[in-house]
Amino acid sequence: MRCPKCKNLDTKVIDSRITEDWKSIRRRRECEKCEARFTTFERMEFVNFLVTKNNWEKEMYDRTKLQRSILKSFNKRNMDIDKIEQMINDLESEWASNKKWITSKRIWKDILHKLKDIDDVAYIRFASIYHNFENVENFMKFIKSEFDN
Ligand SMILES: [Zn+2]
Repeated sequence: MRCPKCKNLDTKVIDSRITEDWKSIRRRRECEKCEARFTTFERMEFVNFLVTKNNWEKEMYDRTKLQRSILKSFNKRNMDIDKIEQMINDLESEWASNKKWITSKRIWKDILHKLKDIDDVAYIRFASIYHNFENVENFMKFIKSEFDN
């Protein structure tokens, strides 16, 4: 990202947030040479592949929907958007490679697996969004089986 003032190429990101339409990332950047600050809007890249749901219905992969549930899991917790974006980008290229479709279960499992290393609370919340636990007992069983081994 080139500095609009001195054209220097080395700029650092000070702050990143997702825009209200969930389609771009607004970044505050600072030039490492002249220290000028500027804002960029970067559109997220969308990859296309089909997702098979539990009932074998297929739908187009929807990054916004996935992001929404991840952000929901981080509600009121510190979240490094760049880290989460990177995580989704990495996984998307895995999901989109060599297959025409992927199961929603696989997506959920992959995200869950990564969240476990990032934030325990977000991880548990994400698990419960997907599982839609019917009662506390089932939820506790899940937690126990996840953390016992
Ligand atoms: Zn500059």
